[in-house]
Amino acid sequence: VLFSHLGLSKPIMKAIDEMGYRNPTQIQAQAIPIILQNHDLVGIAQTGTGKTASFTLPILEILSSSKGRARMPRALILEPTRELALQVADNLKQYSNYLKLSYALLMGGESMNDQKETLNRGVDIIIATPGRLMDLFDKGAILLTQIKILVIDEADRMLDMGFIPDVEKIISYLPKNRQTLLLSATMSDDIRKLTDSFLSNPQEVTV
Ligand code: AMP
Repeated sequence: VLFSHLGLSKPIMKAIDEMGYRNPTQIQAQAIPIILQNHDLVGIAQTGTGKTASFTLPILEILSSSKGRARMPRALILEPTRELALQVADNLKQYSNYLKLSYALLMGGESMNDQKETLNRGVDIIIATPGRLMDLFDKGAILLTQIKILVIDEADRMLDMGFIPDVEKIISYLPKNRQTLLLSATMSDDIRKLTDSFLSNPQEVTV
């Protein structure tokens, strides 16, 4: 499979090319077309498989080609740790080099006021750890009414770290009519319960 067969448009292809990626990884080849068709997705993949691009690239594609209200958060990516949130933000920044999409990185240990200012300027994508997202939401600093795509990344780590109640609460703030992507290094009964509760007819990809 070639990147050019996955349905990604020119600005994104150009950024991928500049990253030096030659071919999509297995998870990318399988997940990108599913996400572009607006299906929910369960992706079982470890870090290092290229899983980040498997959801960030199609999200950029969907947001850049949709007529949704620009600069209202339309995609929400939840990460269990600061390090992962930073990595995802770093990837998004590079992949969106030729797009007019903006993002906010919301995580603990950083100034809430700076994060509020970023949100006030208007962003298309939020990358967040659950705790900080809830704090900002409770302060009325975030509108989540336009979220079209939710990503629960590293769901097994979210479970291990006890973040699932926070994630459930955050999901209760989101529109019901949305696309949900869940990624996990492993599948388990607990992960299955999550996907059964929060995803609808998900397609499953395991690499
Ligand atoms: P991840 O599994 O998302 O943490 O990605 C692992 C590493 O693979 C990151 O450094 C990515 O920049 C890199 N990567 C992702 N997709 C590709 C690809 N198609 N070709 C080469 N490298 C890639």
